[in-house]
Amino acid sequence: MAIPKALRRLIRNAVLDLDGYVPVEPVEAVAERIGKPVDEIIRLHMNENPYGTSMRVQEVLASFDHYQEYPDADQRVARERIAAYTGAPSQRIIIGNGSDELIDLLLLATIDPGDEVIVPTPTFGVYESRTPLFGGVVRRVPRTADFDLDVDAITQAVTERTKLIFVTAPNNPTGNMPTTQQIVRLLRTGALIVADEAYYEFSGKTFLPLAREFDNLVILRTFSKWAGLAGMRLGYAILPDALAAELWKVKQPFNVSAAGLKAIEAVLDDIDYLQETVNRIKIERGRLYRGLRKLNFLQPYPSQGNFILCRVTRGDAHDIHRRLERRGILVRKYSDPDLRNYLRITVGRPEHTDALMAALRGMAGEI
Ligand SMILES: *Cc1c(COP(=O)(O)O)cnc(C)c1O
Repeated sequence: MAIPKALRRLIRNAVLDLDGYVPVEPVEAVAERIGKPVDEIIRLHMNENPYGTSMRVQEVLASFDHYQEYPDADQRVARERIAAYTGAPSQRIIIGNGSDELIDLLLLATIDPGDEVIVPTPTFGVYESRTPLFGGVVRRVPRTADFDLDVDAITQAVTERTKLIFVTAPNNPTGNMPTTQQIVRLLRTGALIVADEAYYEFSGKTFLPLAREFDNLVILRTFSKWAGLAGMRLGYAILPDALAAELWKVKQPFNVSAAGLKAIEAVLDDIDYLQETVNRIKIERGRLYRGLRKLNFLQPYPSQGNFILCRVTRGDAHDIHRRLERRGILVRKYSDPDLRNYLRITVGRPEHTDALMAALRGMAGEI
């Protein structure tokens, strides 16, 4: 929509220059379009936990009766629980309204106009979409043909203006992990290395031990994926001491709701149940991968997350997406030219895999 001149004057150029964020179409809208009840839609497009969160979280939230009070701005109890879970000291932990908020806080605390942020592509889109809003300049460094980090190219892209290098581990959407050696090489550049471990519970691998040796490593984690709490918006960062102090200065005092802080305590009281759902998802990941490999039009990539990226080797990814959607199965498609002919499929319950595989096998002759 064209913006009136008088208003245009009042808006920041960085905002005017942004392409509007195009959110994933709401499931309600899809359900209406295809004429199915929302509850019958199979959600394999957002990397959510198909088992939901634990009963314990639901009980704690249902009985919580302090909504009239502001939450604890220091997040003290929840941070101590995360400290016990991760082994990192609580003064180095900050909880965000989703780890997405922590990406914003890192940019807010580090970027002066013209500073640079290195993003190894393809990857999670938020790093690239948020950087310009804070006056930063994105330097995209393409991954190799098999989506490995190109550490030589990244180190060559580092300048005296480089502030952050985002490394997703495992990477979304490609599912692969960087190696410790690669992360160490990046840490030696002196830039802040942000290891986004959103899928840590599914990979079982973390770069947190490197924080003992390097004071420029930031770890990002979230409760959205493994803990079934995407709707609560809860993530956390483990930061070098001095950087944690700077982030506390820029964080909104009440960024995380009282319900959110309670949910963290409850989740970390019910690790066994959630670990069990993570194990089920990991087993199902293997079964889904083997099924996808048998199709003659998709090439799945091995994944350490709760999703599998597939290259469409025959036919068109957006066409397959549409055909699945008509049957009430949602997967993730991409408009980014790098991933135009790929689909990302979240690992669901066994019956979701069965429905997906039946639908894919059913269309094999038509595409
Ligand atoms: C899903 C995801 C996030 C976002 O997590 P929230 O805590 O829900 O904001 C961050 N990073 C990556 C790589 C993700 O896939």
